[in-house]
Amino acid sequence: MKQRNWKSAPRHNRRKDPAGIGTRAVWAGENIEPWQRATQVPVALSVSYGYDNLDEWAQVALGHARGHIYGRNTNPTVAAFEEKVRLLEGAEAATSFSSGMAAISNTLFTLLSPGDRVVSVKDTYGGTNKLFVEFLPRFGIDVCLCDTTDHRGIEAAIGEGCKVLYLESPTNPTIKVVDIARLAASGRRQGATVVVDNTFATPINQQPLELGADLVIHSATKFLGGHADALGGVVCGTADLVAKIYHFREITGACLDPMSAYLLLRGMKTLHLRIARQNESAMNIARFLEAHPKVERVFYPGLKSHENHEIARRQMSGFGGVLSFAIRGGFDAVKSFLPRLNYAHLAANLGAVETVAGPPATTSHVESTKQERAAAGIPEALIRYSVGIEDADDLIADLRHALKSVGKKSNPKRRTRQ
Ligand SMILES: *Cc1c(COP(=O)(O)O)cnc(C)c1O
Repeated sequence: MKQRNWKSAPRHNRRKDPAGIGTRAVWAGENIEPWQRATQVPVALSVSYGYDNLDEWAQVALGHARGHIYGRNTNPTVAAFEEKVRLLEGAEAATSFSSGMAAISNTLFTLLSPGDRVVSVKDTYGGTNKLFVEFLPRFGIDVCLCDTTDHRGIEAAIGEGCKVLYLESPTNPTIKVVDIARLAASGRRQGATVVVDNTFATPINQQPLELGADLVIHSATKFLGGHADALGGVVCGTADLVAKIYHFREITGACLDPMSAYLLLRGMKTLHLRIARQNESAMNIARFLEAHPKVERVFYPGLKSHENHEIARRQMSGFGGVLSFAIRGGFDAVKSFLPRLNYAHLAANLGAVETVAGPPATTSHVESTKQERAAAGIPEALIRYSVGIEDADDLIADLRHALKSVGKKSNPKRRTRQ
């Protein structure tokens, strides 16, 4: 009964679905046309959609009637994924991409033209930073990258001209936090389009549209999917902006694959449960590490010692599942410490159900030189730790055990896993 009520709600009432975010994570986007009474969204691998009636075909092709024509434009499984993200972010519209970087690059190339200026921060995701320093300038776009937590400096840069204000919070790998409401207001005064990469926070912990952003971007590969088995990206926001970005993508072709859309859609049904657990475990682990004598520094916005803790408290409802910490003894200590972790993939991704750990030198900042990492304030002995959904006590015991080796000379073999 409940299910039918939800499904029959008029479309225009569902932009801000009044249901709780956990209910939306489960139900949103699932009301596509049923196929053989399947309760789960089918994976439509068909590239094209046939029409016997040429008038109907024309109506759909021209966008006057609902339906699908060709897979590079739209697909029913992909549309269900977009709808779920749209409702979780409380947006007017959403469109998806083959990866997070496709979402980011398509958005920037849609919004920017030669002579325009984009203002952003130095700590954006490594791939995004490459767009700013390597690709956009080739098209005559002026890129201004500010110190991430210097809010006055960012406001001054916006005041000197800004077509697009591009923010990311929390950032990678030192988990910095920017005041989205304050900077979005500054961007809007200048007439800029305000874009926020919400990958680290997810819509469970942070709602950038409510804080004044025009567009929210996700690498769905991370927390949204949550199982490290599908790449994807998504942009949501106002209908007119999303329509422009969708048009750029339908022509340039970085569309989300239907199988990946299905995996992401399935992963998102447990998003609220995973994030609640990851928030709680990360907080406990951050406190444990901060008190450990072999740990030099811990970066986590939930800690009082974090330089932007107050901003994080204001704009986030949870502090997220990623933290980083520097251990004593430099990179040699990292090399002996990491392989001793039993419950962590040593890998480049984050946001998965399994804990994932790695140094920035081989993850977020693999393209940077040692000097560039130092200039960005990244300690050489830093470890990024993306907390999974395991029992926090086991993760803490694992970290405690691996930290014992720090500063000792011994064979860095993994214990056998049970
Ligand atoms: C991983 C990541 C991206 C890029 O996403 P892909 O799906 O790997 O292309 C962008 N932004 C942030 C914050 C990320 O962590």
